Amino acid sequence: MKYFILTLVLVCSLSGFGFNMSSSTIANGKTVFIEFDKNDNIEYKHVRIDKKRFKIYNNFVLIPISYYEKAKNLKLIVNYRENSSKMKFHIINLRIVDGKYKKEILRVAKGKVSLNKSNKIRAAKEYKEAMSIYNSFTEESYLKTKFIMPLNSKITSDFGNARMYNGSLSGYHSGTDFRAKVGTPLISSNDGVVVLVKDRFYSGGSVIIDHGRGIYIGYSHMSSFNVKKNQRVKKGQIIGLSGVSGRVTGPHLHFSARVSGVQVDPLQLIKLLNKRL
Ligand SMILES: [Zn+2]
Repeated sequence: MKYFILTLVLVCSLSGFGFNMSSSTIANGKTVFIEFDKNDNIEYKHVRIDKKRFKIYNNFVLIPISYYEKAKNLKLIVNYRENSSKMKFHIINLRIVDGKYKKEILRVAKGKVSLNKSNKIRAAKEYKEAMSIYNSFTEESYLKTKFIMPLNSKITSDFGNARMYNGSLSGYHSGTDFRAKVGTPLISSNDGVVVLVKDRFYSGGSVIIDHGRGIYIGYSHMSSFNVKKNQRVKKGQIIGLSGVSGRVTGPHLHFSARVSGVQVDPLQLIKLLNKRL
């Protein structure tokens, strides 16, 4: 490993290209950042993984790793220009490891597991709507200061736990759950723009906030809303009250995050971003 890092630093310094990566290994469902050394002669453009591109802003880029990625070595191709030359590339190796997430068994209302036709249509429509939001990209970053927690409470379920609903396996836990009795005020974790306020089949009362540059944070199972779509919100502003709506076993807040369309561990993302904010 030491030899590998040494080689990497050496290669980088030879070409005038340098970077700092939050980690050279990452578990599925987590995010990694790469910060490139400031160099007046180099213009960093984007990082490519297969066909997907992640734009580099201010020498900084976030790479989200899908929960469904298997352990493997990933090649990140960095495209850049040096002295206004034609596009060059540099390869950064990233090792994906198994997040070793736990299994959870949950009991919820039957109709929230085996869906009737109209609920199936509704859930599919809501998924499509959310994905079109998550895949849209705001060039501006609304983030000026560190993220805070949406409420002061105990975590009852972590991101990534494999979930069995009423005995059948149904994906994984897509966010972090906080204990919250119905009616607990929920605050925006940071500055942003509200992009969705809606009662949804699985997520119940939901608010999604766009923080810019592909970062979205979601709040689910709410009982009431204090914000409207397209409204700008400040960190710490009350966005609504917690509840027990959607597919739930009891009242709580489900807190989730997406980066460039990919669902990631919200608390790991926040920790990572807070190092820079
Ligand atoms: Zn949850």
